[in-house]
Amino acid sequence: MTSNKALFIHAANDIQIRDYTPPAPTSDEVMVDVAAVGVCGSDLHYYKDGGIGGAIIQAPFVPGHEFSARAVQDVPAKNVQAGELVAVDPATPCHTCEWCARGHHNLCPNVRFIGAPPYNGAMTKSFPVPQSTLIKLPASMSAEQAAMLEPLGVCIHAIDLAKPKLMETIAVLGCGGIGLGIIQLLVKTGCHKIIAIDPQQHRLDKALSLGASEVGNSLDIISAATASRGCDLVIEATNSPNGMHDAIMASVIGGRVVLVGIPDGDRYTNFSAAQARRRGLDLRFSRRMGDVYDRAIALVHNSHIDVDTLITHRFSIEESEQAFKLQVNEEPGLIKSMILPA
Ligand SMILES: [Zn+2]
Ligand SMILES: [Zn+2]
Repeated sequence: MTSNKALFIHAANDIQIRDYTPPAPTSDEVMVDVAAVGVCGSDLHYYKDGGIGGAIIQAPFVPGHEFSARAVQDVPAKNVQAGELVAVDPATPCHTCEWCARGHHNLCPNVRFIGAPPYNGAMTKSFPVPQSTLIKLPASMSAEQAAMLEPLGVCIHAIDLAKPKLMETIAVLGCGGIGLGIIQLLVKTGCHKIIAIDPQQHRLDKALSLGASEVGNSLDIISAATASRGCDLVIEATNSPNGMHDAIMASVIGGRVVLVGIPDGDRYTNFSAAQARRRGLDLRFSRRMGDVYDRAIALVHNSHIDVDTLITHRFSIEESEQAFKLQVNEEPGLIKSMILPA
């Protein structure tokens, strides 16, 4: 094999781009060439904090779980031919635990998740993945669109939990790739009063272009847009420790809150129990995704959702540390970065 570079995160603020010799595939696996891999907010937590909650980096690892790839040989069990573009579901649940048995595969505590330590991910040119994770795609789908199916799946799962209702007032906190995907899905669901909040103006501009009805950089816009009533549904998709506080404060009495974001430092701070209790809030945490890939593929394939508009920056593996630095530094204009190893 020619030299195979990978992006390794060694610890907080320590990224190294270096040669990587992937292990030979086992009989259940197939070697794939990565076509496109997105930089996710969760990847950024490994870079900024050295872990997410209890999932601490113990040894250098390769991140990357939002990706498309080409198998280097035929995979008959998946009707996939060598060289054919596929998406890869990063999660392999155990299928035997109590939660898998109940259909909650996204909550499986034994999940093997590509790109979460200790499992190396897709920020490399070639590596082995379980054959069972390959997802067949319509021929017209691009490598970048296929890599966006995973984050779109996160958005679909959040909508499944949130159960938006026609014509209710909805706040979306955070307009990164997830928040903007959620806004597009809300519009598709028939919601029109969508208030989007983000500190960055270019993200608010994008939210407006994708169907948000009002935008602002603070909670003040909620009071102004709802005559201080609050929103029936609040979907939080930020990385802020204040995210839960803001979501509670944005909610109407008797409202619903769905938390999708991962807060910096693994802590929500400052939230007032009284503000949540007095509203009698229905509070839900969204974890990864359920069975969403068929819907994600259909939404993109039929142009119901525009994932291309979210991709603003592209990098080679060699340049890929820059993708992390720009995102940490909140580069103006940046929404979603793609690493294109091929
Ligand atoms: Zn992700
Ligand atoms: Zn399980």
